Amino acid sequence: MKPKRKVPTKRIRIQNNWWKVKLERPPTKETYDGLCVPGDRTIYLHPIAIKTRGIELVCHELIHARLFDIDEEAVEEIGTLAGEVAAFVAKHNDGVII
Ligand SMILES: [Zn+2]
Repeated sequence: MKPKRKVPTKRIRIQNNWWKVKLERPPTKETYDGLCVPGDRTIYLHPIAIKTRGIELVCHELIHARLFDIDEEAVEEIGTLAGEVAAFVAKHNDGVII
């Protein structure tokens, strides 16, 4: 039997509540690149998807977590913009963005 790998998990605080960010395919939506589950206070980020659009996904799911009522179109737009601008910043900072 293969040993089960531990899921990389980070704890963050959103409005005084602890949330988990897991680098794992969303268990209930395995084809999604990211998912915010407010009931469990958990954000899932697909470990493969973060290689090509991590900043976009991080922004997208954080917006859902913090401002859950925002419509999907606005969340999508901000996430995409964050990815674009982050790539621009990285390009002019030796490929690094923090
Ligand atoms: Zn979304």
